Amino acid sequence: MTNKNFDSPLTAPKRPATRIGYGFDSHEFHPGIPLKIGGITVPHEKGLGGHSDGDVLLHAITDALLGAIAAPDIGALFPPSDPKWKGADSVVFLREALQRVSDAGYAVANMDASLILAKPKIGPHAAAIRSQVAQLLGVPGDCVGLKAKTPEGLNLENTAVAHVVVLLEKIAPPKRARKK
Ligand code: MG
Repeated sequence: MTNKNFDSPLTAPKRPATRIGYGFDSHEFHPGIPLKIGGITVPHEKGLGGHSDGDVLLHAITDALLGAIAAPDIGALFPPSDPKWKGADSVVFLREALQRVSDAGYAVANMDASLILAKPKIGPHAAAIRSQVAQLLGVPGDCVGLKAKTPEGLNLENTAVAHVVVLLEKIAPPKRARKK
């Protein structure tokens, strides 16, 4: 692309020391499927529907990472129309985003998330979710924030929503530049 405003982090001449990313996702609850949140199976009578495993938190993290490096979003990289991603483990999406972040010469500094859902209560599982997400991102546990809220007044009783921000820091020249 010739428009300088659309340079990618791999080609842009000026690379910021930090980059922020934001991701949002929502999924509907359906009975009889496992509830996956942040790579953890949370005991509940309903799970989140979707083409993959419906892990609303990992999807929002993935989009935040991709957004931070101005990469195509999760829907563009893993189209729901592609049967290949039916029932897929969302960790696969997250790993692709992390690879792209690494190729761009950045690493995750920290992230913060808000989960909005009526049930189940996240409190008893928050430590396990934070630990799993920290491990997946390769950051210490104190670099993963997680708040859970009920959707008061939002009429979202059968939905789970995740908002995520990530901060990346520059660690190396981008891969293309390193290869030269
Ligand atoms: Mg999703």
